[in-house]
Amino acid sequence: MKPKSLLKPTLLIIGLLNATLSFGHTSYPKEVKCPIDGNKFTIYVTASYTTFSTLKDFQKQGAIGDLYESYINSCPKCHYCGYQSDFDSTFSDSTKQDILKILEPFKNSKMTDVLENEIAIIIHQYFKRDNDNIANLYLVASYFLKGDSLQKSKRKELQLNCAIYLTKAIEAKEYDKPETYATINYLIGELYRRIGEFDTAIKYYDFAINDRKKKEWILEVATKQKELAIKKDEDNSI
Ligand SMILES: [Zn+2]
Repeated sequence: MKPKSLLKPTLLIIGLLNATLSFGHTSYPKEVKCPIDGNKFTIYVTASYTTFSTLKDFQKQGAIGDLYESYINSCPKCHYCGYQSDFDSTFSDSTKQDILKILEPFKNSKMTDVLENEIAIIIHQYFKRDNDNIANLYLVASYFLKGDSLQKSKRKELQLNCAIYLTKAIEAKEYDKPETYATINYLIGELYRRIGEFDTAIKYYDFAINDRKKKEWILEVATKQKELAIKKDEDNSI
């Protein structure tokens, strides 16, 4: 009988530990097949994560593990890059040839998370995917360089491209919900502020602030960030 009662506190601790662990980032391995060369390899798909807060450029903070890194995967052999769904695709021979031509300059490149996103962007452009989709890949790529002072100009280039594609997405009316436009204009403003183009930033913050269909929280955050732009503050850490 004694050993049984001794087990109880241990089980309780294990139970608590499991509860803590499940309140975080989890992922699972999945085998995928490259649609270009048939190469099979394992990717890690995010199953769950916990967000504690969000930065002003919508980057999630918390127990997110490699959430952003795991969005885009690359074939280790041909460097074809894309979301998991891009690996589930099948292409015609002519499409495969076109993509191989796109991949040619990256044949000997050392793959990084930023480069994976950039290659995925070129492939997205080839397939004429939505501007918003392309903007999102630039945005996530800019997150990878958030604190990297050595790659500041590269980070700004990614943020500028994100802003350009978000502008195109607005022009093409890619958003279903009318309240989304103010949110996107706010984000464009925030990206221009981070780049140091303060007048453009203020213009877009104002679009968001003056949009009658905006979500309630936009007014406060856009007003606060606009004040930073007026002070010519390009802080990218917030
Ligand atoms: Zn491949």
